[in-house]
Amino acid sequence: MRRQFSIGSKLGIKLLAVALICLPIACEDDKPRSRDDLFTEQRELPKLFMTAKTHKRIEAPASRNIFIDEGTGETAWPAAECHAPNCPGREGDTLYLFPDINPAMHAKPDGTIAPGTPPEGNNGGKPAGFCPKCWKAFNLANAGQDKQREYNLYVKPHVLPETAKRMAELEQERRDRRNRRP
Ligand SMILES: [Zn+2]
Repeated sequence: MRRQFSIGSKLGIKLLAVALICLPIACEDDKPRSRDDLFTEQRELPKLFMTAKTHKRIEAPASRNIFIDEGTGETAWPAAECHAPNCPGREGDTLYLFPDINPAMHAKPDGTIAPGTPPEGNNGGKPAGFCPKCWKAFNLANAGQDKQREYNLYVKPHVLPETAKRMAELEQERRDRRNRRP
């Protein structure tokens, strides 16, 4: 008796699982997700972070912004890539990746972020948004505004391939949502 009950409940769980998997798909056709839902998903997509000194790579939800990596004790910063054609860090088609350190803020152990110099110091006076290799090689600290702007534009956030793919799908979902409006 006990055994039959057990088999019966296992089947029930299976049916419930199927229903739970099918339900969101069925709902998707009827009612588009809200803009907030799309935004929330986007914020939780995986993003590449790199630690300040050892450049350890960590994938974490984009919403984490900056945080202290427990393994190294270093601050993990969003990874950026340098598109400058003459970047000294570039290896053929492989762009130089680096932690985009902002010397004006730091992560606290409780996971929050506060203004003020991070433990890594002021990053040699290099502001966020500049490639450290180019900053040094082309003496950007003393370059004119035009040259600084040019090299600032070469730096882009690094986007993981699976995140890029999902972002494109979310963008399509947004467009579909807009087109559905009466
Ligand atoms: Zn560079």
